Amino acid sequence: MSDCIFCRIASGEIPSKKVYEDEDIFAFHDINPQAPVHFMVIPKQHIASLNEADMSHQAVLGKLMAKLGELARSQGLTDGFRTIINTGRVGRQEVYHLHIHILGGPEPLGRMMPRE
Ligand code: 5GP
Ligand code: ZN
Repeated sequence: MSDCIFCRIASGEIPSKKVYEDEDIFAFHDINPQAPVHFMVIPKQHIASLNEADMSHQAVLGKLMAKLGELARSQGLTDGFRTIINTGRVGRQEVYHLHIHILGGPEPLGRMMPRE
């Protein structure tokens, strides 16, 4: 049994609001949504973050990216969306299983980064 929460979600051991699943990837709604629609797409294979990704992960990373538009549209995001990947301490990553956030809603989101 994995001690990684997203590995356990991808295997179905921990329940989630599933958006999509195939043999390589899993998509599910964020438990603490930051926009009217907020879900995440992850590789089933455990990759801790983009810092651990390398060319051996090329196929699954490409698949994740190539699926995002279709998955976003399936959740009603027909007029665009935002993708976020937080990496490591400086990126304020909380869960160390690589995930792509997809956020959107009927109205445009706030600025990507607050201006200070
Ligand atoms: P990070 O900050 O690592 O990019 O984002 C982790 C995200 O995972 C957060 O937005 C958080 O709300 C979400 N999250 C943490 N634990 C769970 C969980 O058990 N289930 C779901 N669906 N989302 C989770
Ligand atoms: Zn994992």
